[in-house]
Amino acid sequence: MTGLNTKEEELFEFITSGKIDEAKKLISSGEVSVDCEDKEGMTPLSSAAFKGSEELAKLLIAAGADVNTKAHKHGYTPLMFAALAGKPELCRVLMDAGAYAQKSNTINKTASEMAAFVGQHECVTIINNHVCIDEVEKFLHPKGADSEEQFPVEFVRFCHGLTSSHKIHPVAIIFHLRENSIHLERSKKILWVVDRVFEKQLRCKEPNEVMSMKLWLVLITLRETFKFIEERMKAGGTMGPIRNKADICTAYAKYMLKMEPEDKVRLNLDRHLRGAIVAFPYRQSLLFETMVKAMAKTQFGERPSAYEYIVQALFGQRIFALNKFCSTCGGPGANKRCPTCKLPYCSQECQKFDWAIHKKVCAAIAERNERGEEEMGEGLGDGESPRDTVDEREGEEKETVDVDDVKVGIEEVDIKK
Ligand SMILES: [Zn+2]
Ligand SMILES: [Zn+2]
Repeated sequence: MTGLNTKEEELFEFITSGKIDEAKKLISSGEVSVDCEDKEGMTPLSSAAFKGSEELAKLLIAAGADVNTKAHKHGYTPLMFAALAGKPELCRVLMDAGAYAQKSNTINKTASEMAAFVGQHECVTIINNHVCIDEVEKFLHPKGADSEEQFPVEFVRFCHGLTSSHKIHPVAIIFHLRENSIHLERSKKILWVVDRVFEKQLRCKEPNEVMSMKLWLVLITLRETFKFIEERMKAGGTMGPIRNKADICTAYAKYMLKMEPEDKVRLNLDRHLRGAIVAFPYRQSLLFETMVKAMAKTQFGERPSAYEYIVQALFGQRIFALNKFCSTCGGPGANKRCPTCKLPYCSQECQKFDWAIHKKVCAAIAERNERGEEEMGEGLGDGESPRDTVDEREGEEKETVDVDDVKVGIEEVDIKK
């Protein structure tokens, strides 16, 4: 017998019949348990995955649904249902949320094996090329429960989050560290795990270049942030009263965002990102070569910024052209703007965070805009009035610059592999 109440039975009906709005209302009403089970052991998330509904799956995950539910009578996980339904993007959503890919059902088949069996090859590729939480778990607990060191599940999830996130902007990563400063006591372990995941990616028969580059950028920002924290902790009194790691993260984010009226880009940030790209260890990568060549066209200190190049290379021209990126955290869809200079921000928090720095440079940026120079922090396109700036930029190039010129301005970063 199932323990479903009437509302929960309704929820399953809405999910099965694709009534997304009604299902949404019920989930947010709090009248249903997100992990309730029907008599087959299906949870709402399993049902949403079975129906292939990415929207509902995201909603249920956000409401706290268990992505690794063991309730199903044949041991089917939501990821298996998504794979059988042939929904690669949904598979990705579930794995980003920590779904284990190596789990098997009662007849010992994993999600990827099941997808292969029913011919859902795109799902097989997605599952096999994704940084899964299994991988992170294996590095942290090589002998499972018998491993020498045992880490809390929140820590495993935190490390997995760092390796599977699409947030590669240094300030976004620093903000994430600040919010999770409880884990910073284990900074060496965090670095070690992300490094292992990166190395493993490189050793693949067919390394995924985009994923490798993303992991590398995350790794470098983590490394530099931890170095900064360590130095500040050691300096203690002489460097001021900052002792707490979350506050040091704030200080480092401000350092990254530093800007003077004459600056066209945030110099510390640009130096950091250019340095990271140049230090990428997988030299034969085509992506690396393309990025270095593109970036060499712009002198250090000029626009487009390193981040603009990175977004184009990793996420594609289309995403780049259709979005504005937050001037603070680099997040896409930044629809708020500084009223004076039109610099884009994703949220009020980001705008507030930047204000102490921005108020000194706002007038100078506004003036440069007036003179028709490029707006800071914008994508090559403009959501409201699409412009053809890609071509304009190409027209601006006066000369070809040697590849080595990307290194200009990075001598101060000491990035060692
Ligand atoms: Zn932001
Ligand atoms: Zn402004």
